[in-house]
Amino acid sequence: DRLAANVAVGKRVEAPFGKGDRGIPGFCVRVATEAPERSVKAITRVIDDEALVDDHLMKLTRWMADYYLCGWGQVLHAVVPAGVRENAGTRQAVFVEAVPTDKLPNPLPTVSPQQKIALDCLKHEARAVEQGLLCRLAKCGPGVVSGLVRKGLVRKFNERIESSQGADEETEERSAHIEMNPDQVKAWDEVRPALEAGYHPFLLHGVTGSGKTEIYLRAIEEIVKQGKEAIVLVPEISLTPQTIARFRGRCGNVAVLHSHLTDAERGGYWRRVASGQVQVVVGARSAVFAPTRKLGLIVIDEEHEHTFKQESTPRYHARDVAIMRARLENIPIVMGSATPSLESWSNAQKGSFTLLKLPKRVENRPMPPVKLIDLRHEAKPAGKLFAIGPTLELAIRQNLKAGGQVILLLNRRGFSTHVHCPTCGHVAQCAHCDLALTFHRTKAALVCHYCGWETAPFEKCPACADGAIRYQGLGTEKLESEIGAKFPGFVCQRMDSDTMSRPGSHRRVLDAFRDGKIHILVGTQMIAKGLDFPNVTLVGVVNADTGLHLPDFRSAEKTFQLLAQVAGRAGRGDKGGHVMVQTYTPEHPCITLAAKHAYIQFAAQELAHRKEHRYPPYERMARLIVRSEKEEEACKFADQLAAAFQEAIKRAAGPVRLLGPAECPVFRLKNYYRYHFQIQSESSGVLHDVIR
Ligand code: ADP
Ligand code: ZN
Repeated sequence: DRLAANVAVGKRVEAPFGKGDRGIPGFCVRVATEAPERSVKAITRVIDDEALVDDHLMKLTRWMADYYLCGWGQVLHAVVPAGVRENAGTRQAVFVEAVPTDKLPNPLPTVSPQQKIALDCLKHEARAVEQGLLCRLAKCGPGVVSGLVRKGLVRKFNERIESSQGADEETEERSAHIEMNPDQVKAWDEVRPALEAGYHPFLLHGVTGSGKTEIYLRAIEEIVKQGKEAIVLVPEISLTPQTIARFRGRCGNVAVLHSHLTDAERGGYWRRVASGQVQVVVGARSAVFAPTRKLGLIVIDEEHEHTFKQESTPRYHARDVAIMRARLENIPIVMGSATPSLESWSNAQKGSFTLLKLPKRVENRPMPPVKLIDLRHEAKPAGKLFAIGPTLELAIRQNLKAGGQVILLLNRRGFSTHVHCPTCGHVAQCAHCDLALTFHRTKAALVCHYCGWETAPFEKCPACADGAIRYQGLGTEKLESEIGAKFPGFVCQRMDSDTMSRPGSHRRVLDAFRDGKIHILVGTQMIAKGLDFPNVTLVGVVNADTGLHLPDFRSAEKTFQLLAQVAGRAGRGDKGGHVMVQTYTPEHPCITLAAKHAYIQFAAQELAHRKEHRYPPYERMARLIVRSEKEEEACKFADQLAAAFQEAIKRAAGPVRLLGPAECPVFRLKNYYRYHFQIQSESSGVLHDVIR
């Protein structure tokens, strides 16, 4: 009863749990007026002054808990940033303001000269100011202000405020308006009326460099004009200064949410968005939860990106959550990509999404020609293995000579990816995972790319004491050193998560590349997305096959997407450009079709394959992992679970396919032994019921 007036949906409360009656925070999700039948403990405290989660977000999190089969509390915990929960970045401040004339005491008390100065300063400000600021302005101590308060001339109050304002408030220059081409006009003519007409999903399929961003920008401008807000989701690695500048230049007050923010900064942005000070939120995955007040539009660029999927609980996919949010808030959502996910593509084919097409590059620039280099038939000079074959080497030389810049993709970090003993066959393995270690030369260490475990490189085989350890397999570090040797006099920069770990490094490298201070940029997929550098005349893919044979039903789709994206970095300027792809499997459809920029054909072929094998989007699929640090326990529980599944499937309302238990492809990971199940059904409802 004591708290009834204070409690509200979306605020956190504290309640005693367990024996020690320790207070534990939880979210208030509903307020009931009748007491429940079973006995309950009393809430001890309401933590927040304001609700942290509004009605829409509350509904969205409830849906997520049901859909992704996790606790509602887990979802809420993940959705509200730690910096908001802990009030990080805020402090309790003391404010003072002059008492209005009609409320002044009568007769007016006399004031000291110092008090008079302070009072005049405060009147001059004509607003509430922090006590500290007033003391600085009037060059007085707090006692003077307190005197004024006692005399009834000044009012004091407390308020929680940001301890610092957002760091990157730099306003970019307003960019010039672009004259849209006929394809863009056609797409825009479909989007514009929808901006006032409730839920409407669009899939914008536009080749790389076709001007998709212009459509997003126009839609956002229109929404902001209507007094509403927009959320723009982009993959974390596309959150480049270039991308941000494009939005800042056109869209008013833009907040950028990326993973380098501190808790305090994140909390600060959340509060600014919640108080309506921000019109456009640009961010990675979690920006889908931005607490906007009047959301009018969601945009998802590169909607096919798998980084929109979160790999820890709640294991949500930001695109699917965004679609649900757009439904709940009854607003349009625009998803764009040059290589849409097959799920979205099939939704567009079925008519659930409206398909918009930008089939050509802007200003009629051609798509860059792609040449496939069959590594099985490349000459091997001096019989040695190389990263850059003679054909690609020659092309790089010619492009550099003509003043062009080069991007080289190799989707593997490190120096040598395979360290083994040719005498006994011993392979350097992680102590905690069933995985081979990668040699990193800069660090002088063998590193596990899954758990981060490191060990010193050995000179002798630890198994047979033979001295001839071989370092094989190719990573970006080795590629970088090969390039240094082959192209002396040219500047090469490596861009991967090892060299780009410090905030700001990304920006420095890209600025230098734009200024022509770097001639060759080598890197992992980090360099494949979103970069728009007109002077890049050659893009080389060192090994197109790295991701092709992974045990993942999406491996062909991901390979196609990566090739198409990196190819899209070439020929964005007047000089034109071309692409060279080294591969051992040039006949694989995803490589052949990527070389022809034939997304639609690839999608048709891959969807037929998925249909035949009943993979998504034709069936819903869930994967369950059982893990334990004790191998037997994992095995025993997996068997129990299998039996429970058999029972549940008998009672299911529709057909369900169960595979497993089987050992995971990587059986031991971070010291856990792992078994997995794959479970499929045409209906997500049936799948949910069985798992529940
Ligand atoms: P996408 O996202 O489809 O790869 P972008 O939106 O990045 O393509 O556009 C590529 C470049 O073309 C950008 O520099 C953009 O400013 C420019 N651009 C967009 N539309 C037009 C247009 N109608 N005419 C000329 N240039 C355009
Ligand atoms: Zn490991």
